[in-house]
Amino acid sequence: MALTQITPTQTPTQKRGYEYDLAIVGGGIIGLTLAAALKDSGLSVLLIEARVESAAVAKGQAYAVHMLSALIYQGIGIWEKILPQIATYRRVRLSDADYPNVVEFSTTDIGTSDLGYVADHQALLQPLQEFVKECPNVTYLCPAEVVNSQYQQDIVAIDIKIAGELRTIRSKLLVAADGARSPIREAAKIKTHGWKYWQSCIVAFVKPEKSHNDTAYERFWSSGPFAILPLPGNRCRIVWTAPHEEAKALCALDDEQFLKELSRRYGNQMGKLELLGSRFVFQVQLMQSSRYVLPRLALIGDAAHNCHPVGGQGLNLGIRDAAALAQILQEAKATNKDIGDIRILKRYQNWRQRENLTILGFTDLLDRVFSNNFLPIVLVRRFGLLTLQKVPLLKIFALKLMIGMKGRTPELARRI
Ligand SMILES: Cc1cc2nc3c(=O)[nH]c(=O)nc-3n(C[C@H](O)[C@H](O)[C@H](O)COP(=O)(O)OP(=O)(O)OC[C@H]3O[C@@H](n4cnc5c(N)ncnc54)[C@H](O)[C@@H]3O)c2cc1C
Repeated sequence: MALTQITPTQTPTQKRGYEYDLAIVGGGIIGLTLAAALKDSGLSVLLIEARVESAAVAKGQAYAVHMLSALIYQGIGIWEKILPQIATYRRVRLSDADYPNVVEFSTTDIGTSDLGYVADHQALLQPLQEFVKECPNVTYLCPAEVVNSQYQQDIVAIDIKIAGELRTIRSKLLVAADGARSPIREAAKIKTHGWKYWQSCIVAFVKPEKSHNDTAYERFWSSGPFAILPLPGNRCRIVWTAPHEEAKALCALDDEQFLKELSRRYGNQMGKLELLGSRFVFQVQLMQSSRYVLPRLALIGDAAHNCHPVGGQGLNLGIRDAAALAQILQEAKATNKDIGDIRILKRYQNWRQRENLTILGFTDLLDRVFSNNFLPIVLVRRFGLLTLQKVPLLKIFALKLMIGMKGRTPELARRI
């Protein structure tokens, strides 16, 4: 069966009291990844996205994509469509402001050909949209908005607004991939824990005069981490964290003044910088949902957790959630179990909630230890950087943790 992009006049086939095995709310990168990962599962999937396709693609974001995420996309069979459009980095340089001891990670540390990748939002979202349109078991409903859901003993009834009309569909499981504000999580009264940071994050794209040399930089200033990520076309993405007032003031500067400030943080290793397009400021928060599942409901991606952008972890955690949930649902289907049963869903929660908490804690620790001028902490962290550079086992451990190679590996990532 080819793509079924339901138009308002089409009605899904009704089977045994429900129309779909699962409905995924949110066709961002994470919702699409789950739908794609379920391609050969034998499960019927409804994917619902509120924004029109072109608007969803147009987000001016870019992400560090870690090795484990790349392996998951290889396992799904979509990586060859993504790889030509993204940049590969083979070196990461960590430094503490102007302190001369820089920690350099390279492919030789872990014996791989690449360390990671950086992708524009479009370079991930578009191939995923195209892929799910070709999945015979996936119905892609876009634009359409979920406005209500009712959890019953055996099914969940989902009210969807399509072109001004309300339609109710029933499925065995609802998966919320509806972003950080997750209306589905709120309506289900799932509590969250966490805090907003004292910092905001400025995101901008620049073109340096010299080659970026496929190198990613994370430079820690006392005001917050400053990352430079290489992109195709010798562009770079800047993720610049600073206290709210400073971030606001920086964003209000004219281009020339902004570039001057940017160059001070950036260093002169890549020559003169040219600013590409607009810059944006994001609020930064840490959030962990108290539970990832309820009977007939699972949360994935930003709906389940958010973290500080240091280390570019957020999206990658969501990709791992999608791969883990796909594996558990597929195993349940293979043994004729009810995929909405809380005992099945708890396997996903037990797997992902703790692993995500470790990374949330790690990013929080990095930010707090480095966004700090208290002399004893400065001395300890500089000693820590030196140790990291000199002790190979520690260096490999830190690198593997950051790129997702610690923890349980989903089956999808083992397929190649
Ligand atoms: C400044 C900054 C920098 C970052 N850098 C990185 C990085 O380098 N690497 C990294 O891994 N992560 C990074 N992240 C994190 C990353 O952006 C997020 O983790 C990721 O985008 C979350 O994807 P998602 O699909 O879960 O949510 P979203 O992208 O928010 O998608 C949710 C989707 O759900 C849809 N939706 C919502 N409600 C409904 C509804 N009722 N019905 C239908 N559809 C609905 C929305 O339209 C949307 O398309 C960064 C974040 C920030 C703020």
